[in-house]
Formats: sequence, C-alpha cells, structure tokens
Amino acid sequence: MTYELVIGIETHVELATRSKMFCGCAATWFGAPPNTLVCPVCLGLPGALPVPNRRAIELAITAGLALHCETPEHTKFDRKNYMYPDLPKGYQISQYDLPLNVNGWLEIPADGGGTKRVGIIRAHLEEDTGKLLHGASGSLVDFNRSGVPLLEIVSAPDMSSVREALAYTEALREILIYSGISEFRLEEGGARFDTNVSIRFEEDGKTVWPPQSEIKNLNSYRAIEQAVTFEAARLWDDWQAGGEVRSRTGKITVGWSPDSGRTFLQRRKEESEDYRYFPEPDLVTYEPSRESVEALRASLPEMPAERRARFVAQYGITDHDARVLVSDPALASFYEQAAAAAAGEAKAVANWVTGELLRRLREKGLRPTAIPIGPEHVAALVRLVASGTVSGTTAKDVFAEMWATGQKPEAIVAEKGLQQVSDESAIAAAVDEVIAADPKAVADHRAGKAKALEALIGKVMGRMKGKANPQVVRKLLGERLSA
Ligand SMILES: [Zn+2]
Repeated sequence: MTYELVIGIETHVELATRSKMFCGCAATWFGAPPNTLVCPVCLGLPGALPVPNRRAIELAITAGLALHCETPEHTKFDRKNYMYPDLPKGYQISQYDLPLNVNGWLEIPADGGGTKRVGIIRAHLEEDTGKLLHGASGSLVDFNRSGVPLLEIVSAPDMSSVREALAYTEALREILIYSGISEFRLEEGGARFDTNVSIRFEEDGKTVWPPQSEIKNLNSYRAIEQAVTFEAARLWDDWQAGGEVRSRTGKITVGWSPDSGRTFLQRRKEESEDYRYFPEPDLVTYEPSRESVEALRASLPEMPAERRARFVAQYGITDHDARVLVSDPALASFYEQAAAAAAGEAKAVANWVTGELLRRLREKGLRPTAIPIGPEHVAALVRLVASGTVSGTTAKDVFAEMWATGQKPEAIVAEKGLQQVSDESAIAAAVDEVIAADPKAVADHRAGKAKALEALIGKVMGRMKGKANPQVVRKLLGERLSA
C-alpha cells in the first residue's frame, strides 16, 4: 500500500411514507405506469403550493436520533436552483444551512480490529426528482418519483478502505430498516450513494492530499466496491504520471460505468454558490418541539447492534450467526419465535435458519418477509432431531418438503415413514449383513484404515434407507468388529 484511502459517503434514501413530500400523491412510484402519480404540485405547475408531509419530517428526525444526531431547534427548507429536464420547477426543495439533523455517528467494525465511529455530519430532508428514460427515438420523462421524500445522510470522511465503506453502508441500511425509516430498496433505486474518494500519501517528507473525486449515483454495494477501488488507483496512477490531478484545485464529479468497469468525468464540481440557495418562500421555518423529539426518541426500537449483543448473550450463538440473523428484522424475528418454540435448542435453530433457510431464500431471491414456512415449522423440526425421531440427514429432506408444501414436519415424517430407527435389534441385522458381505472392508478396518469404518457405516445406512440412528450404527459396528 503506497497511499491511504479517505472515503466519505452521501446516502440518499427514500422515506417509507405513503404520500409524497409536499403533496398527497402516492409515494410508491416503483412499477407504476409513467406519469400516473402526479398533481400540479409535484409537476411544478405555476401557482401550486407545497404542504410538508408530517410523517416524512418525523421519519427524518427519527433517522437522526437513531444515528445519534442532535435535532437543532430551528430548521427550514431552501430552494436549490438548477435546471434539469426531470426537475420541472427548476429547483429542488432541500435544506441548506439548517438541516433537521447534525453531529451524529454510527459504529462499524474497524479494519484494525475492534470498532470505529464514523461521523454523520448532517442528515437533511429533500424531494426526489423525476426519472428520465432514454430510448432510441429520444428521451422521455416520468414524474411519478418527483416529490418523493428523500433523506440525504452525509458521513464524515472517516472510512479508510473499501471494506470500511461497505461496513458503513451495511450498518446504515440496518439502522434505517430497523427504525422503519426506509425500506432501503437499492435494487429499485430507493437508495443511492454518492461516494467521495481521495488518496493521501507522503512524498518528499510531506503529506500530500490531492482533491477528491465524487462518484455519483452508485446503486449497489458491488458498484461501491468496484468504483472506489478503480478511482483510488486512477488518482494514484495519474499523480505518478504527472497528470491533471497534480494541478487541479477543486473536486470533480465522476460517473461509474459498470460495463466498462471505469469512472468517467461528468463535471468539475459546482460549489454550493452555484445553486443559489435561498429560503423556500412558500414554507415557514420549522422548530421541532423538544417534547415531540423526545417522544420520537422514546419510540425508537432496539437497534441492530444491541440486538446482536443480546442474541449472543441470550441464545449462546456465535457473533457471526447473530450478525447474519440481525441483518434483517424479519429474519431476526423469525429466529426469535422459532428459538422460543424450540426451548433449549436456540443454537440448532440458528443453524437451520442461517443454513438451509437462508440458502433457499437467496436461491429464489426472496426477502425474509416472504419465508414460506412459519417459525413453528423450524422449531418442530429441530425438536424432532433433538429427540432422535429423525436423523440429521433425513431432517434436510423433511425441511425441503415442508418448504415446498408448507406441511408440518411431524406430518411429513409420519406420512413418509421417515422415523429414525434406534432399535438395536433392527440395526444389528443390517450390521451383520454388511459385515458378511464385505470382508475386504472388515480386513481394511482391522489393518487400521480409518476410512473402512466410515464406508461400512455408509453401507448400513444405505441398507436402512438412511433411517438408522448413526450413533447406534457406529456403536454396533464397533462392537462387532472388535469382537
Ligand atoms: Zn403530487
């Protein structure tokens, strides 16, 4: 490593409101036919007046509280002026110098071990723009997204690697989902990242820190990983080659092309003066009462970090398993219900949920809210294994069957005759047959070949159609072979 990476992230997330920021149109724009969720306000028609969405303001303050921010006593909305085809008013209502939230932080696993705090400089409320659709015959605009409430969360440049940047976005995602602020639907464009990247290094005994690049509109974790890696290397190579970054004084804005795997220059960065911010004359200033802020604080649910710590302490599961389970509130609740229903088997339940269950969800691209079985199904299956009614191997088949049909595991086991056989006399007969049929494996075993015993166990299990209790098989084979 020849340079140090310095990363800051601006995250735009749509808030989970039913209606838009300044009008009554539905905010659920994804998948709706173009220009069906619009009115004079969000189309920016002359004379239309904005009315702030109370729920959006509450969610924005709640987000700030979850991120340990202060809620200033005075806030206001401002006009950010710029011309763009998907911005019909010619300005966006945003917050300039008095945002709803300032001075927060969140905690991430640090590269050097332990944890580190990433500062949250501010989180302000604004409205989303429309969407341009570029086709062969021209470009079209869809205003359904115009005016959807958007929270912009600006981190301090506290991350020093791609891994820390990803840990930050993951921690932020969890907190916003947990507190019901946003569904964080990256795949639908409901969350986007602008990532500021710069490099810092020593040269001739001096610290050099060239101007940063802002990579606009990254819409996946993979894009962050690839774009940041590419841009940092590009800045470094450019510096080494005596390129433009040596003489540049301000930051630049670049885009990311996943197809070419490269960034491309969009523009020399505007400064905030270029937007001619001024207070929004159609809205009054807003002073959140301390009572309402405290009420929102009191309604914050258990946060992911606390839930992880509790899972480890309460259920005796590993930190890794706790991390996987807590990554989604629906998955975490599913686990808690299953663990409660399978008393004393919390670890086994965690194995099923983080293993078989999650694998199937991922295969089908399903969210944990769409798990097709209930927590009681998993709990019942775990009890069947714990009581020795079915073997671990058979249990996987039962799981597959209950996933596909929604049937209860007890019913599947009874119907298909999958009960594990622990009866020694039944197993002993199979053991004797296998020993008689395979003198070579017996000789190998006696000659000390470890694999021979496993092969014999496999044959007994085969004869018993996988239903023999493996511990009994092992015990009886051992007795017979050492006799
Ligand atoms: Zn509208």
